[in-house]
Amino acid sequence: VITIDRGAEPDELVRARSQQLASALISGRPDDFQGYNLDSVRKQLAAQQGYGCAYCESDIEGASYPIEHLRPKAVAEDVNWIQLGPLPQAGTFFQWFDQNLEEATKNGWLPDRDRYWWLAWTWENLFLACPTCNNFFKKNRFPLRNGSSKLGSAQLDQPPGNEDILLIDPSQTDPLDHISFAPSRSDRTGWGAVARTDQGHWTIAVLGLNKRQGLQTKRDAIAKDIEDGLDFIAVNNAIQGATPVDADKWSALLRRALNPGLGFLGFRWNVLNYWFNAQVRRELNLNLPRPGRLSTAAPKPVWDARPELVGLPPALEYRVRALGDRAEQTTMQALLVDLCRPGSRSADDLAQILRRDEAYLRNNFLTPMSTGNAPTLDLDPTSATYRAR
Ligand SMILES: [Zn+2]
Repeated sequence: VITIDRGAEPDELVRARSQQLASALISGRPDDFQGYNLDSVRKQLAAQQGYGCAYCESDIEGASYPIEHLRPKAVAEDVNWIQLGPLPQAGTFFQWFDQNLEEATKNGWLPDRDRYWWLAWTWENLFLACPTCNNFFKKNRFPLRNGSSKLGSAQLDQPPGNEDILLIDPSQTDPLDHISFAPSRSDRTGWGAVARTDQGHWTIAVLGLNKRQGLQTKRDAIAKDIEDGLDFIAVNNAIQGATPVDADKWSALLRRALNPGLGFLGFRWNVLNYWFNAQVRRELNLNLPRPGRLSTAAPKPVWDARPELVGLPPALEYRVRALGDRAEQTTMQALLVDLCRPGSRSADDLAQILRRDEAYLRNNFLTPMSTGNAPTLDLDPTSATYRAR
């Protein structure tokens, strides 16, 4: 896995998000996840990911590869920390993890229906993944560290926030810092993923990076191909100071082994890093540039600025923006009540927020309601403002 810079968000997704999110908030049906599965999104992610799965680096081989939500769009499955018991002392985490993940998986993960439906159309939450990662391993799993704060639906919190996530987000962190690869047998075949951090460990386990025969075969073939091109005798001589290292040969090796067109760049980098570790590189003055880069681009504004909406809770702002030409009675009245809930507002104020004619609002919607237990609006005649009751 390497870092992924998604680039600018496709306009089509911006439109889809503003529509779908608003609909979900209005209808109260945040289980209707249409609109994110766009060809423009898939194409851009494929290109920006170098046509490899964001998680396992397998080649993207078709136009039907799933658009994957890092934070699951419906029912995030978190670790049942209570069931797992107290955390171990620092330094023994990985051993504890190996014993307990089996336990956690056996007993199922803890479903959290509150997260993360509002991120279904969020560009910063999307990757392209292979069907195996998407359907059989990652699924709805999104473990957070025990005690981590959580993004909340009430304010439509945006990632990454302060969540202490236990999966690697390749758009936020360099996966090479979390997972390395090494040959697991003396005959140098069987290259396996090795965790360098807690996130690395969880990612390897959740995605089954050491359990998938297809990946194993592919990785071993790539490693052998790179090793076949290494002149181990020359390297050894250089390390012992017998001969200087041949800079041209090193450049040629990098060009061949880390050619972006070949895919599996994260793994390829790790093979070179295994044979030429940081200490060796320092001694021989060799440079091993990391593939991929983190995004530094500022996020694009999602919609037009509307000063009169500043200060509204995000969920309410979406509803206001989504109302558009829909002036359906109950929808409008519920919205008016919610707009007057934190404090009273004048008809003029409401007209500006809703971009409606003030008289039209007064005549059609601002009459005090008294239906059942529904919240109502009261008019305060002295201040000419409405208040929710
Ligand atoms: Zn994959």
